Amino acid sequence: MLEKLLITLLIALNFYTQFCFPKLLANQNIRLSDLKNHQKVVDFTVEAVYEVDNQKPLGARFRHNQSGFVLDLLRIQSVPQAFMWVNSHPVSDRGEPHTLEHLLLGKGTKGRYVASLEEMSLGNSSAFTAQLRTCYHFHTSAGSSVFFNLFQTKLDAMLHPNFSDEEIRREVRNMGITNDPVDGSLSLEEKGTVYNEMVSSFERPWGNLYFELGKMIYGHDHPSAYSAGGYPTAIREMKPEHIRNFHNSTHHLNNMGAIMALPSELSLETVIVRISDILKIVEPDAKYGSVHPDDANNLLSIPDGKTTGTLSQVTFPHMNKNEPGLLVFSWPANRTLDSKQNILLDLFLQTLASGQTSNLYRRFIDSQTQTMDIGATSVFGWRSDEAGEPIFIGLNSVHRKTGDAGMMDSIRQVILDEIQLISNYPDGSDELSEFNKRIESRIEEYRKEITDFFNSPPRFGYRGTGSSWMKHLSELHKIGGFKRSLTFSEYFDWASTIVKSNKNHWREMINNWKLLNDKPFGVVTLPDPGYLEQKRYERDLRIEEYKTMLMERYQTNDIHNALLNYQEDYDGNTAVIKK
Ligand SMILES: [Zn+2]
Repeated sequence: MLEKLLITLLIALNFYTQFCFPKLLANQNIRLSDLKNHQKVVDFTVEAVYEVDNQKPLGARFRHNQSGFVLDLLRIQSVPQAFMWVNSHPVSDRGEPHTLEHLLLGKGTKGRYVASLEEMSLGNSSAFTAQLRTCYHFHTSAGSSVFFNLFQTKLDAMLHPNFSDEEIRREVRNMGITNDPVDGSLSLEEKGTVYNEMVSSFERPWGNLYFELGKMIYGHDHPSAYSAGGYPTAIREMKPEHIRNFHNSTHHLNNMGAIMALPSELSLETVIVRISDILKIVEPDAKYGSVHPDDANNLLSIPDGKTTGTLSQVTFPHMNKNEPGLLVFSWPANRTLDSKQNILLDLFLQTLASGQTSNLYRRFIDSQTQTMDIGATSVFGWRSDEAGEPIFIGLNSVHRKTGDAGMMDSIRQVILDEIQLISNYPDGSDELSEFNKRIESRIEEYRKEITDFFNSPPRFGYRGTGSSWMKHLSELHKIGGFKRSLTFSEYFDWASTIVKSNKNHWREMINNWKLLNDKPFGVVTLPDPGYLEQKRYERDLRIEEYKTMLMERYQTNDIHNALLNYQEDYDGNTAVIKK
């Protein structure tokens, strides 16, 4: 009897914790300002609150108890919107991350359903593949219940896609067949949205340059050096199983997160209950990962940095053999800096190499002050937040003659000399104070930009909306702590004290950042009038090889017969996809 009672009690308790507990919490009025560290809210645990300079919180970060999924909730008055991200470290140059971005929310019955639901839901969406993450974002003006419905449908299509192998081939790359409307002749054509997109991407100067530089910095087999979009030669090797394996190893709740901006009419508990329910449905057997999804990049190895300073040339198609090119230098990926240092380094790089007031503008572009005339029209610099934080400085529209190693080396030396000069500014000198004043005005600009940034809607779902919010929150995650300041005020205050001092702090910083320890790598782009012709020649060879293969497949010596057979099969496959 007692045993029976105990079992009944246990079942009741189990039922209570599973089903009633969330509802109990759901009836409470949870406010952002009341959240406590590690507090359990329905199926989530509070990890941090986001504040704006000690005013009331603007948002909070939660982790899903079962999977570790990261949920960032922001209170911003606008239509409901979300930015979903997946860690998608590339495993090859075939472009698996990019291909999945194309397939998941558009192919298979699930992908197509997402697209039509979005249309009916007055929604808008966009997606992009960054080097280490794939991002999908959307908004809807049809209210919150439609928003959650869309979120669930998208998440389900991302986790459990049902596109066919043929749909993969069609989206990635396949040999298509076309019928000449005039004479009825058949011909083969390399098709595939991803393939053709990447072919043209690698025809632009940045395409080959970025690819080459990545390999120099990280070596050939590193997720930060593989082409996340896909390198055409490698894309041609892509098989459906590559995509399926990659999907299996990346697209799980424990490797993802979402930032949601929701209006305050929607109570916090409604949101958390709704998302708890959705996650339970889309991946009921989710496992908590061993790594926080926002720490996945920490797993990437930092190169040993033994080989540095290599200079190299890549080409881009242009009929003018003197067309100006792009020149970019990169310091090796061998630094691990905290957020304070990152902010200061960003300010330093902007002041050194960005805009008309920058030191390198004076060195290379301003005709009154330039050390050498290389034709450049602008200069830029940035720090990557990938493993080892490589630093880049580049020049646009450089003369064709800068393409030889000797010239590249001289340009690099001018950059290094300028950094050395800054490092040597005497304490209390006019040069130091002039440099610091420029940094100071950038600090003020940054502060204003950041305030504007979180006072405006994030514009998720619009084309061209980048990863600023995601990066901002990741940087705050790196800093850690429960209360996180969205404005980074403390860090800018620290940077201000550095630039207001009479002491030259840059000497120590330049040393910390290893700017004078290693010679940067360099890549320049050169115009190649024969580029397209060469590519056409190679493509025609592939088509000829394919024809031979088709004649073997259909056991005929007549190419027209082989093509007719192929067309029949191809059209048959198309009909299956369209069903
Ligand atoms: Zn694309």
